[in-house]
Amino acid sequence: ITHCPVAALSGRDDKRPVFSQNGMLNTRRKTTVVQVAPAVRTAWAEAFRLSRKFASPERLAGALRLMGFDYVFDTTYAADLTIMEEGSEFLERLKHKEDYQWPMFTSCCPGWIRFLKSQYPDMVDCLSTAKSPQQMQGAIIKNYFADKIHEDPENIFSVSIMPCIAKKAECALPTMDSTGTGPDVDVVLNTREFVDYMKSLNIDVYGLPEDRFDSPCGEGTGAAVIFGTTGGVMEAALRSCYYLATGENPDPDAFHSVRGMDGWKEASIDIAGTEVKVAVVSGLGNARKLIEAIRRGEVFYHFVEVMACPGGCVGGGGQPIHEGKEMAEIRSKNLYFLDSHNERRFSHENPEVLKTYEEYLEKPLSRMSHKLLHTDHHAWDMPLAPKLKKR
Ligand code: SF4
Repeated sequence: ITHCPVAALSGRDDKRPVFSQNGMLNTRRKTTVVQVAPAVRTAWAEAFRLSRKFASPERLAGALRLMGFDYVFDTTYAADLTIMEEGSEFLERLKHKEDYQWPMFTSCCPGWIRFLKSQYPDMVDCLSTAKSPQQMQGAIIKNYFADKIHEDPENIFSVSIMPCIAKKAECALPTMDSTGTGPDVDVVLNTREFVDYMKSLNIDVYGLPEDRFDSPCGEGTGAAVIFGTTGGVMEAALRSCYYLATGENPDPDAFHSVRGMDGWKEASIDIAGTEVKVAVVSGLGNARKLIEAIRRGEVFYHFVEVMACPGGCVGGGGQPIHEGKEMAEIRSKNLYFLDSHNERRFSHENPEVLKTYEEYLEKPLSRMSHKLLHTDHHAWDMPLAPKLKKR
C-alpha cells in the first residue's frame, strides 16, 4: 500500500506531530495556523450525522478554533488566488500559442502530477506552473501573513486539513519551502484524521459555535468552493478567463456543461472571439485514455482539468469512507449549493485576493507571484519504486 505510484494510498497518521497525547496542540510555543480545503466542508459532518444546514463552514471554523489554533483560514482564499494565476497563465499561453506544448493541464492535484511525471514525462511542460491552493496558502501564510503579524516564518506552525493523502507528500517536496526556513505547510491532516481527533476530544458537535475564518487570507468565493469537485477548477477558471479577456462577467452558470460525475467531459467555449476547447477528466484511468487520444491525434484541447480521484476531491482518498456507499456526487451537490448561495461567484472579485495583489504580489504572474505561487515541475524526480523481492 505504501508503494502507490501517486502517493494516494498510505497508512500514515499525522495527528502525532500536531496534537500531544493530552489533546493539546503540540506546537512548541509556535504560532499555529490551520487551513481547511473546500471539499472537507462537505464531508466532515457525515461522521456526526449533522445536517447540511447545521454543518456550515463557519461551524467548521468554530471547531478548529476550539481545538486551539491561533489562526483559522479557508483554503478557498488560495483557490481564488490559483484561478488568478492559472487563468492568467492560460490566457498568456493562448496569446503565444506556438511557444507552448498543448493542452495546458491544471496542476492542483498532486496525485495527477505524480502520474504524469511517471507515465508521460514528455508532457510535463503541459502542466500549469501554478502551485496547488494548499501550497499557495502555505506560501502566503509564511510570507505575506507572517509580515502582517510580525512573526518569523520559522515560528509559524502551519497545518492543513485536506480530503487528500497525496498532499502529505506534496508539502514535503523540496520546491515547497518558499522562505528557506522549512516547509510552507508543516503537516497535512486528512478529513478522517481530523474527524478522529474531534471524536477523541469529545467535542460537543451539537453545541459547536459558528465562527468566522480569519482575515486577511481567509475568505473565498463560490468559484473557489467548487474546486472540491470534478469540473470545479475548470468552471472557476473559465468564469475569470472570460472576464480577464473581455472585461465583462459572464453568467456565473454559463459553463455548467463541465459539471457532473462523468469521467470525461468536454466543452467548446467562445472567449473574446476565440474558440477554446476544454476537457475535464477525473480518475487516472480516464486521464490515461484522454492522453492516449491526444497523442494519437484523435482529440485536441486547449485546457484540461485532471483530478486523480473519481469525482474530484469530494471523493478523495482522505475523506470519510462509508462501506458500500459512494458519496462524491452528494458532496458535489453540496458544493454547488454553497456556490449558488455565495454573494461572490468570481475569483477575480475576492476582495482579500485583490488586496494581496495590491499590497504584496503586485499582479498575477509578477516576479513575486512567480516566486511564491508557481513551481518548477522538473525540479524533483519521481522516487523509484522499490524492487520487489523474487520469491
Ligand atoms: Fe488529492 Fe484526489 Fe483531490 Fe487529487 S483529486 S487533490 S489526489 S483528493
